[in-house]
Amino acid sequence: MTRPVIAIHGGAGTLSRAELDGARERELLAALEAALAAGADVLERRGSSLDAVERAVRVLEDSPLFNAGRGAVFTAAGTVECDACIMHGPTLAAGAVAAVHGVRNPVSLARLVMERSRHVFLAGDGAERFARDQGVELMPASYFHTDSRWQALQRVRAGAKASDGERHGTVGAVALDDAGALAAATSTGGITGKLPGRVGDSPIVGAGTYANTSVAVSASGDGEVFLRCNAAYRVAALTELVRLTPRLAARRTLLEVKRAGGRGGLIVLGADGTVAMPFTTEGMYRGVRAAGAASRLGIFRGPPR
Ligand code: ASP
Repeated sequence: MTRPVIAIHGGAGTLSRAELDGARERELLAALEAALAAGADVLERRGSSLDAVERAVRVLEDSPLFNAGRGAVFTAAGTVECDACIMHGPTLAAGAVAAVHGVRNPVSLARLVMERSRHVFLAGDGAERFARDQGVELMPASYFHTDSRWQALQRVRAGAKASDGERHGTVGAVALDDAGALAAATSTGGITGKLPGRVGDSPIVGAGTYANTSVAVSASGDGEVFLRCNAAYRVAALTELVRLTPRLAARRTLLEVKRAGGRGGLIVLGADGTVAMPFTTEGMYRGVRAAGAASRLGIFRGPPR
């Protein structure tokens, strides 16, 4: 029996230290803690890692603070389009959706694609039709409207360079259950001012999300670069085939991403419960909790608290 662990992220590319006041920081940490607690609760009741990552990501999607679900950023057309992926390590089963409108919890729609369709990936209108057929919760556009995201779009439209924290985000979780099964999930609104129809790395199996029997990986960062680097699968390959530790594999992958012109972060969980959460941005909202232990949360450099 393995000791269950869950790790989450709320995006690499945080507000800068100077932009983040104490009240906002406490709010962000409380939201991360709530997501970790939801995932850990599943694991502590001997639930599956798949249920744990879905639960944790749903909490982050429901928060207006992160770029996924309710707090997703706006496209250049002023709409909200979400992408998500979920993957089960032992079976390599995966489900993903991209460019969906109005779905409250894209990660759960991705799971339905995995479990109730013949496919791995559904996008756009077809994904939305599938969502309606499956009876998933849909929300009006107003639900996804957050003032700060709207302001960020106006700044991007005016030609300003948005800060990492404004442009980016993404949420994700990786978990290991007491049966030794790994799972990963990632959900995002993408990047502020993206062209409608743009799909980043997050929902792509092997780019922003991956899980097998060795590791579970969820990424955040410059989606186009993570895509080209097959970042999540690269971590898995370096771990499984080259026998690097999850930490070294993640760092090596971020180096490759940097060489290709991108920045971001990765959360990686090994089959032995080892967690690595490196990033090359100023910060990454993150947290980890092993069964029976306290949560450790972090935003900027330095070990999670
Ligand atoms: N990787 C995400 C995307 O490009 C955005 C992010 O994580 O910041 O869709």
